[in-house]
Order: sequence, then structure tokens, then C-alpha cells
Amino acid sequence: LASKLQETFKKLRSKGKLTEKDVKEAMKDVKIALLEADVNYKVVKDFINKVNEKAVGQEVLESLTPGQQVIKIVHNELVELMGKTNTHINFASKPPTVIMFVGLQGSGKTTTCGKLAANIKKQGKRPLLVAADVYRPAAIKQLQVLGQNLDVPVFTMGNNINPVDICKNSINEAGRIGSDVIIIDTAGRLHIDDEMMNELKEIKEAVKPHEVLLVVDAMTGQDAVNVAQNFNEQIGIDGLILTKLDGDTRGGAALSIRAVTGKPIKFVGTGEKMDALEPFHPDRLASRILGMGDVLSLIEKAQENYDIKKAEELQEKLLKQQFTLEDFLDQLQQIKRMGPLSQLVEMIPGLSPKQLAGVNINDRDVSKIEAIINSMTKAERKDPSIINGSRRKRIAMGSGTSIQDVNRLLKEFSETKKMMKMFGSADSIKKGKLKLP
Ligand code: GDP
Ligand code: MG
Repeated sequence: LASKLQETFKKLRSKGKLTEKDVKEAMKDVKIALLEADVNYKVVKDFINKVNEKAVGQEVLESLTPGQQVIKIVHNELVELMGKTNTHINFASKPPTVIMFVGLQGSGKTTTCGKLAANIKKQGKRPLLVAADVYRPAAIKQLQVLGQNLDVPVFTMGNNINPVDICKNSINEAGRIGSDVIIIDTAGRLHIDDEMMNELKEIKEAVKPHEVLLVVDAMTGQDAVNVAQNFNEQIGIDGLILTKLDGDTRGGAALSIRAVTGKPIKFVGTGEKMDALEPFHPDRLASRILGMGDVLSLIEKAQENYDIKKAEELQEKLLKQQFTLEDFLDQLQQIKRMGPLSQLVEMIPGLSPKQLAGVNINDRDVSKIEAIINSMTKAERKDPSIINGSRRKRIAMGSGTSIQDVNRLLKEFSETKKMMKMFGSADSIKKGKLKLP
């Protein structure tokens, strides 16, 4: 399939500009790629529509072909859809934290309970595993063996006790032995049924978990959407763990589930061993689902070159002192894409990263600044000196920020400009007079 996409990509290579037709054509194959990765057809449809809308009319990045540009947009959207990395567990401010695992039989709940216990133990916490699957004959034993190997206590009451009572009692047990994280391994079924759901609801009601994690086998096909929807609607989940990504599945189920539940994927399982649990990386999974690693690394390379070129253009502007708020925004977006500011600075001759020590712009700042500048009129961006009190108020309202935020940005911009003036003479740089916002 990867080769199929590469074919499309080649087809588009010769074209000069991204047209509506280009996008449509590329999307046909993206659609097939996603369906073949076992993404639910409805999710695929929605996704393609959304990306179509965004892609048409978008500028083709220099040094990218139209086909590459479409793939890049698709990839970015996939990453966005699967959410920013949010791998942390919500630990309770007042221990014990209760984590409840739910999922179909065979999805990897018990194994993943063990993996998470190992992971949490490494962080210096004291987990307690709770065997609440009383139906499968070997389930308790399985958890006990895992616990033994990990040197993590396992709470069981045998299989003649109601799982709800086992879970309630586990909280006392945690207090007794000084555990601060309770990990509950619940029973699954091969298919969704009311009995299972009711039991899980009761457990949730009884122990009020801080995290309900749905474990999903990455190899699950179209059914994944129903499963996830059911668990989310009936029990309410906080996140997902996608297991068996070490297999050759493309993991399309993850995309479907993320799309229908809106809940983040927190970890992925990559093997049967206890250390085979990794934080979730949306970009990696997006590449995998698309199934076109080589094309994506090519695009990344092109993007890097593009950024260097833009940085050079910017430098030119700086030197000529034609630096506007729009350039400022552009610069920030570059920084956001490129990572540390020091990287950008390395491209500016005569300026050492040392001079930038302490400069720290985070994504939240950048989004705020983006919003503010986007709320300005063209004239204001060109000449910020016209931005008086009432204009500041309007900009703050329009961007959902405060007047202080707007003031700070204008101040930073004017300082940057001042700095640019010094830029003009290389001397002042050498003397280290330079101060960045
Ligand atoms: P449960 O029924 O949901 O508790 O599932 P189990 O934890 O018993 O796991 C079912 C099977 O899947 C076992 O053979 C596990 O070793 C295997 N398994 C679980 N997670 C992974 C994983 O990330 N990769 C692989 N390859 N196998 C896994
Ligand atoms: Mg189990």
C-alpha cells in the first residue's frame, strides 16, 4: 500500500500548483490508505471532508510538490486529530489514586495493568494491583504471577466474591499496606454485554476512579468504534491504551476511537514483556496509519530547507529594518515549528546562542501572540504606533486576551525592533548589547 501512495505522489509530482482537482485526486488514495489501515469508514469520510476544506486554496510550500503538500496536510491533520501528547496519568492530590482498566477480553488489560504498575513503581510510587476479574479461571493467577515478578503486591479475595466488593476492599488494603496507586484489573467479555457494563458501572460508582482507561487491541478492526463508543457512553472513559502495536497492524482503530470518543490515547503497548509500554506519540502513529514513512521524511527535509530560506529572508528584512508585526508572527510560527529558539539564532551570523540565554517562548505564548496579531487590521500590523487605547481594547476582545497581553506584545515587538536597529551595526552585537524580547 505504501507503494500505492507513493505512486499517487509521483503522479502529482510533475504538477506545479495545488488545485482543487489535485487535492481530490490525492485524497482518493488517502481514503483508500485509511480504509486499508482499518479506520472506520465514517471517520474516514469526515476526516477527508475536513482536510479537503483545509487543503484547497492552501499555498504549496516551496520545494514541495502538490502531492507532497497534500500528504503533509493530511499528516498534520492526523496528528491533530489524535491529539497532543497527553500521556500522564492523573494522580490524585490525596492518595490513593484509583486507576480502573476496562476493555474486551483479550485486549491486554491484565498485561497492561502489570506494565503500568511497573512504570509507576519506577516513578517511586507504590502500586497495588487488584484482581477483579473473577470469571476467567486463570485471571487471578495471571495477575499474581505478574505482581510477583514485578515485586508489586496483588490484592485478591478469590473468585467467589462480588468484584464490586473486592474493589471497595482494595482501598482499605491500600491504606493498610501504604500503597498510593490502586490499579484495578476488571473482567472483559468477548463482546459488549449488559452484565459486563453493569458490573463496571457499579465498580466505578463504588470506587470513584481517577482514571478509567480503555484498553484496545490495535488489531481490532471496524468494530473498534462500537466498542469504544459503548464503553465511553456507558461507563465514561478518561483515556485509551492501544496494545499490540508491535504487530504489523497499521493501527487505524486508534484513529477511529480517538475520533468518536474524543478521549486521548495515553500509552501504547509494544510487546508482551513488562517494559513494553510507551508514551503515545501522535506523529509516529499518524505516519504508521498513513503507511508512507519515506514520503514523510522527504517532506520533513523539504520543510527544513524551507525554514532556513525563510530565516534568511527574515534576516534580510531585519537588516533593512522593514520588520513588521506580520514578520514577527511569522518568526514566532517558525520558532514553534523548529523547536528551540537557539536553532533559529544559529542561522543568524554574528549572534551566539549564549546571548539568548533565558529566552523562553512556549507554545501557549505563541498561540496567544498569534491570536492577538490575527485580531489586528492590516494597517495596525504595518504600523503598530496607531494602536491607541480603544484599538487595544478591541484587539484584546477579538483575540480573547487581555489588554495587558496586547500591551506586552507591543512592547516586545518594539524592543525587538530596537534590537534590529542594533543589528544594523555588527559592532553592537559583538559588544553584546543585544537584548531580545
Ligand atoms: P485481557 O483479557 O484483556 O486481560 O488480556 P491479557 O492481558 O490477558 O492479554 C491477552 C494476550 O495479549 C496475552 O497473550 C498478552 O501477552 C498479549 N498482549 C497484551 N499486550 C500486548 C502487546 O502490547 N503486544 C503483544 N504482542 N501482545 C500483547
Ligand atoms: Mg485479564
